[in-house]
Amino acid sequence: MGNFNKLTLKNLLENANIGVVIHKWDTTVVYANPTALQLLRLTYEQIIGRDAYDPQWRFLDEANRPLINEQFPVSQVKRFKNPIHNVVLGVIDGKQEKPSWLMVNAYPELAEDDKNNFIVVTFNDITDKKSSFSFQSIADNAEDIIIVTEADDITTPLGPRIIYVNDAFEKLTGFSREEAIGETPRILQGKETDKDELKRISLALQNRQSISSTLRNYTKTGHPYWLSLNIFPLKNKYGEVTHFAAIERDVTNEIYSAQQLETHNQNLKELKSNLEELVRVRTQELHDANKQLYRFAYQDVLTKLPNRRSFLEQAEQQISRAVRAQQTILTGLLDIDNFKQINDTYGHETGDKVLIKVAECFSVFFRQEDCYSRYGGEEFTFCILLQDNKQAMDICQRLRTSIADLVFDVAPEASFQITVSIGASVSKANANSNLEFELNVADRALYKAKNTGRNRVEITIK
Ligand code: GH3
Ligand code: MG
Ligand code: MG
Repeated sequence: MGNFNKLTLKNLLENANIGVVIHKWDTTVVYANPTALQLLRLTYEQIIGRDAYDPQWRFLDEANRPLINEQFPVSQVKRFKNPIHNVVLGVIDGKQEKPSWLMVNAYPELAEDDKNNFIVVTFNDITDKKSSFSFQSIADNAEDIIIVTEADDITTPLGPRIIYVNDAFEKLTGFSREEAIGETPRILQGKETDKDELKRISLALQNRQSISSTLRNYTKTGHPYWLSLNIFPLKNKYGEVTHFAAIERDVTNEIYSAQQLETHNQNLKELKSNLEELVRVRTQELHDANKQLYRFAYQDVLTKLPNRRSFLEQAEQQISRAVRAQQTILTGLLDIDNFKQINDTYGHETGDKVLIKVAECFSVFFRQEDCYSRYGGEEFTFCILLQDNKQAMDICQRLRTSIADLVFDVAPEASFQITVSIGASVSKANANSNLEFELNVADRALYKAKNTGRNRVEITIK
């Protein structure tokens, strides 16, 4: 201990940066140092000799309520003869509306004879501190969860140690501050907490890095919730990472809505693809049905050759083309000779095969642009365009012989052949040309071919 005997108490008080007011036991002020006068905005004369209850000043408690005399620090000390510590008081004087805020301490200086008792009050101005906010209260009251852990023991089962949680943490997790502090954040994890994500977080913390994540955690009672969290290192003034702070937001509703939206979209997608598939199948069916209808309407079922209806439509157009190009029209009717007899001899099925073979012969013999058909029964037609009438007979004869050359095998080592009669009309196309007329001429020619021995071509040239 040093020797303070030479220290002048008065000098100490005069120079101290703390307000000091000394009251006699009856609360009369006997001394106020310069700092006290400055803080109270009074002169020495204004304060000396006044008692504590002088109406020049009024006191407020921390909640801005006026103090009654018994609540004054001086009264408290006098009454209980005990010190009071760190009481926050507002002082209002005549000069200023707003209170000055003081941190007040006071103690009794008791003499042996009880007559020279004093009350010593010391205070300093905390107005600036009182009007400014504290970061602690931001953290405490934030809507988001704030957790601070130590930066040690990241990987040990019981680490890292939680040293701070805010109100929002208590509210969401159900763990009180007392329960959480000293524990590890692992108490919040459960079976659905993503293990890979936890590893990623742990790695970042080991590397003293910030990390953001979305994680499923659990309340004290095991109820799951989703957190969007951001963890960042806190450093001391030497730049060493001493703690980690996590700011976390409950995003359960957002995740749930997003999941619902996803399911909804998935359902819509499925529905759309089902609909598309249905439309595709139906369109194909319709296409097939149309094709089928077209076939029924325009194709002979047995021989697959165009039918009478098809021929009448196509040949009509063929004649119109011939008129425009001033060509020659060859219209023919072909009838199988004695077909009834073939049916009778070899059976109806063989008769059908004959018809199919004759039809194949037609398909091979004629060109793409020619019209031909199975006109009905064992009768076939054709309508083709020529430059002149010279080739007509040759064409009809070649058609006749190509059918006559067909050989039909029946019972083992037996076969037969057929003949046909052809009646044809040949005419140079003109404005009056029409199919009905041409067919009539061809029919008469066929009649003649039949009557003159069959297996013949009869042509009428106009
Ligand atoms: P012609 O030389 O005078 O033409 O004598 P034809 O026997 O060929 O003539 P007819 O008109 O007397 O007989 C035609 C036969 O054709 C009668 C009918 O049973 C047969 N027929 C018609 N359509 C078919 C068919 O689709 N399949 C079979 N197998 N026969 C048919
Ligand atoms: Mg016939
Ligand atoms: Mg016949």
